[in-house]
Amino acid sequence: MISPKYHREIPQRYRLEAGKCKACGNISFPPRLVCPECGKTEFETIRLNEEGKLLTYTIIRVASDKFFGKTPFAVGIVELKDGVKVTTQIADVDFDKLKIGQKVKLVFRKIQDEGKSGLHCYGYKAILL
Ligand SMILES: [Zn+2]
Repeated sequence: MISPKYHREIPQRYRLEAGKCKACGNISFPPRLVCPECGKTEFETIRLNEEGKLLTYTIIRVASDKFFGKTPFAVGIVELKDGVKVTTQIADVDFDKLKIGQKVKLVFRKIQDEGKSGLHCYGYKAILL
């Protein structure tokens, strides 16, 4: 179960909300306080398009204790249509069918694991389209 604390800390991750800089249009995900492009601090909240393409991926065969018994699984970098890149697990996939450039979609999945740095904490995974 995901703790209420985790929910409070980063609710935007669950809704794919990003910050679009009002000055230069750069999109930060998760949202930041200061734009990494222009240094301004005014943002508009936008919901990211959940579709994108697979830039690269790897198959995790040996994982930390937390993910013991869940290997192998695929992790990839997905570039969403808004240009934002996210690192996420690729779910329900036959590894032989994975290829770079493939169209994928982020879907919300209930996550069992909790941690500060785990990929699984984001609450979504990519599936092939
Ligand atoms: Zn900016």
